[in-house]
Amino acid sequence: MLKITSAQFYQKIIYNYITFSFKGYKASNRKTFLHLTKYFNMLIDTHSHIYSEEFIGEREEVVQRSIDNGIEKIVLPNIDSSTIKMMLETSKQFENICFPMIGLHPTSVKEDFEEELEVVEYWLNKEKFYGIGEVGIDLYWDDTFRKEQELVFTRQLKLAQKYNLPLSIHIRESFDIVYELVKKNRFDGMKGIFHCFTGNTAQAKSVIDLGFKIGVGGIVTFKNSGIDKMVAQLKPDDIVLETDAPYLAPTPFRGKRNESSYLVYVLSKVSAIFGISENEMADLTTKTACTVFDI
Ligand SMILES: [Zn+2]
Repeated sequence: MLKITSAQFYQKIIYNYITFSFKGYKASNRKTFLHLTKYFNMLIDTHSHIYSEEFIGEREEVVQRSIDNGIEKIVLPNIDSSTIKMMLETSKQFENICFPMIGLHPTSVKEDFEEELEVVEYWLNKEKFYGIGEVGIDLYWDDTFRKEQELVFTRQLKLAQKYNLPLSIHIRESFDIVYELVKKNRFDGMKGIFHCFTGNTAQAKSVIDLGFKIGVGGIVTFKNSGIDKMVAQLKPDDIVLETDAPYLAPTPFRGKRNESSYLVYVLSKVSAIFGISENEMADLTTKTACTVFDI
């Protein structure tokens, strides 16, 4: 059993009561108070593949380590039809901790993309999902299916509209195309995250203007990545935190298998960039993530 309740929960209530008293808030209304505590000291990993093969047999420990580090919610992006079963099993095993998304990853777009999209829509009608992801365009590994990737991305933008869900967007060597397609297919209430964003400040601001948030992960901790300079030009509530586990582990675990508990290293770096406390940064990014995913 996971130790998510009891001691940690009450510690949090007491801590927040004190914090709020100092800030001059009156937590007289119990409901308001509990609503406010929803965000405090909790972190959300907005992009983590902890359901994947790399964690087989260790998933419970991995989730427990996350909770111990304050990461109490983990949003799971899908890859393709082969990963849905593992992802849904993980979401059911860790209910109210793991929140699944559904979508076809750009690197899985092949000749059979029509069938893959059918699978995505089949599941959308069957289970509750918290977003369309991960979707987008990746021209780094292979651009053989470039046209198909564009078509599949467009179709999934339309699924986001149809099912009123946020998007988790993957871009690699494809910012301009993705940006144009998002703009062209804009709809009322469109929102989501440009995950693991490595673009420049102008690009970041242009997607924020379209209603999206910037996903910041382990790369921000790498020496000379330049991501810190881009992030510094944004506002703290323009960003959300992510690991993209098992990939892109932050320093000091660079090159090793990543996991959601390492999100605290990203938090630490991002708080330093903005010059605010880790608690404050946690609260802001958690609030943003809750709003994006409605969790
Ligand atoms: Zn991913």
